[in-house]
Amino acid sequence: MTLTSVCVYCGSARGSRASYAALARDLAGELARRGLTLVYGGASIGLMGILADAVLEAGGRVVGVIPRRLVERELAHPRLSVLHVTDTMHERKARMAELADAFIALPGGAGTLDELFEIWTWAQLGLHRKPCGLLDADGYYRGLLGFLDHATGEGFLRPEHRALLHVAGSAAELIELLERHAAPGAPGARLEET
Ligand code: AMP
Repeated sequence: MTLTSVCVYCGSARGSRASYAALARDLAGELARRGLTLVYGGASIGLMGILADAVLEAGGRVVGVIPRRLVERELAHPRLSVLHVTDTMHERKARMAELADAFIALPGGAGTLDELFEIWTWAQLGLHRKPCGLLDADGYYRGLLGFLDHATGEGFLRPEHRALLHVAGSAAELIELLERHAAPGAPGARLEET
């Protein structure tokens, strides 16, 4: 299966290092260059806004999905190709999951982690077969990845489930991993249900 749209989870803050914004722009450039639609949370703040602006500036397509009550708090982006406004946070996550062929988390906080872990655990349960990845910068996720190794070693996370979460330090490398995961005949090729 060829990817046509990628859902990106990332911080509603910019983070304290310039490298986080640089990574968001790197990802934006790769998405636009490959003609992949960005699906994201629809905000204009933080890394979310930097990512969406950079895709739009590069001539790419951006679909935002934001719950009504966050339209003001997260300043819904005014210039997206499409903005879906949902009634609840749960609908937002479900709509984002439906609209995308693959999922990537950039650096972010609790919201980003919640979204990443939910979609990754849905893959683990076989609720969908879309590839998931973590894009790391400056070791931001080093501690989390170390913990996942610990959880695997302690017998709470099966190695084959850990392997469903791809990790890379550059957007090009991660997208290639996700495309390979979703290649015809590969385990990620077929979408069952979300
Ligand atoms: P954060 O990583 O905490 O800056 O949040 C990034 C995005 O995740 C924002 O659009 C938040 O609205 C969203 N978010 C925050 N909490 C949750 C949650 N429990 N479930 C889904 N999304 C969330």
